[in-house]
Amino acid sequence: MLTALDHQHQLILATDASRATHYYCPGCRHAVTLRKGQRVVAHFAHQPGNRCNVTTESESQQHLTGKWQLARFFKHDEVRLEPYLSDIQQRPDLLLIQPGKRVAIEFQCSPLSPSKLAARNAGYQKLNVTPVWVLGDYYFQHMKSQSQVALFANWSRKWGWYLLFWHTQTARMELWSQLKIDLLGRIGYQRYQLTAAGESRFIESRALCFDVWQIKQLRQQITYGLRFRTHKYMKWQNFCYMHNCLLQTIPNCCFEHAIVPPLFGDSIAILRYCLLILISDLGQQSVFSLQDVWEMVAELGQLVPVGQFANCNQRVVRNQLQLVLEAWLQTLTVAGYLQPLTHDTWQVTRQFITDP
Ligand SMILES: [Zn+2]
Repeated sequence: MLTALDHQHQLILATDASRATHYYCPGCRHAVTLRKGQRVVAHFAHQPGNRCNVTTESESQQHLTGKWQLARFFKHDEVRLEPYLSDIQQRPDLLLIQPGKRVAIEFQCSPLSPSKLAARNAGYQKLNVTPVWVLGDYYFQHMKSQSQVALFANWSRKWGWYLLFWHTQTARMELWSQLKIDLLGRIGYQRYQLTAAGESRFIESRALCFDVWQIKQLRQQITYGLRFRTHKYMKWQNFCYMHNCLLQTIPNCCFEHAIVPPLFGDSIAILRYCLLILISDLGQQSVFSLQDVWEMVAELGQLVPVGQFANCNQRVVRNQLQLVLEAWLQTLTVAGYLQPLTHDTWQVTRQFITDP
C-alpha cells in the first residue's frame, strides 16, 4: 500500500515517509514497514505473520506503480489514495469524488474469485459508491474466453459490453468495447485508448466474423467430446436422449447469427438447440409465452450456464439476454417451427425431430 498512518493518525504517503518513524495500517492497525529504494516503488508492507483482512492483495510492483499512475491519470477529479472505508472495511485503490458521485477504482493485477469480486462490489453498493475495475497486464495477456470476460465485463449504452485495462509500461488506459463471442466462445472487440480528458482514440478492431469453418469446428468438437466421453458433452447428450434427440444432429438454424453478446459460458448453439428441444416438447399447436422461455433457460441453467456476470447489474444482463432469446424465437419462426400470436406468445407449428 502507498499510504499508512503515523503516530498522530495522519495518513502519510510512502514517498513522504521517513524510516525513523513508525507507521500503521489504516485498516487493521498493525505496524507496517516502509519499503523504499532505487528498485522498489515506495510502499508500506505488513510485517510477516500479521494478518490483515482489509489489504488482501500481496502487492506487486506493477500494482503499486499503477496506483500512482492512476492517481495522476484521474487528476481532474478529487482523488483519495487507498482510503479506508471503515463502514464496509474495504480499501479501494483510489476513490474519486465527482459531483454527486463517488467512484472506487480497483486496479486488479492478480487473479480474483467471482465471490470476492461480488462481495467487494456489494460493499461499495452499500455506500452508494460505483466500483470500476481496471485490469493489469496479467488479464490483458490472458483474456481470451467468455468465462474470463464475464468476471469483469460491464455494459454501457455507448460501449456495449466492455473491459478496462491499465498499462503501467505506457501509463495508458485501454478500453475493449463491443465485446462479442462466436460459436466457439472466442472473443472479439474494438480497442480504444482513453485519455484523462475523457476522449477515446481508436486503436484497432479485433471483431469476429462468421465463417462456416466455425460450424465444422463446433460439430467436430461435439464428435470428439462424445467419443472421449467428456463430461459436459455427455451431460448434453443425456439431455438429448431424455428428449429422444441426439446432440450430433443440431439443425443449421442453431448456427445462424453466430456472433452474440458474451453471455454464454458455452456455445450459443448448444443453448439454442436445448431450447428448441424443450419448445418442441410442448407439442404441436401448443402456445407458450416469453415467460415460459425464461423458465426453460432457468431449467437449463445447470446444463448450459448463462450470464454469471459478477460486475454487472443483473437487470442489464437480463435485458441483454432477452434480446438474444427474442432473436432466437424470430429465427425459429422463419425456420417454420413457430408462429407468433402476440408480441410475446407463440404457437408451435412444427416439432423438431432428430432424423433416425
Ligand atoms: Zn492491515
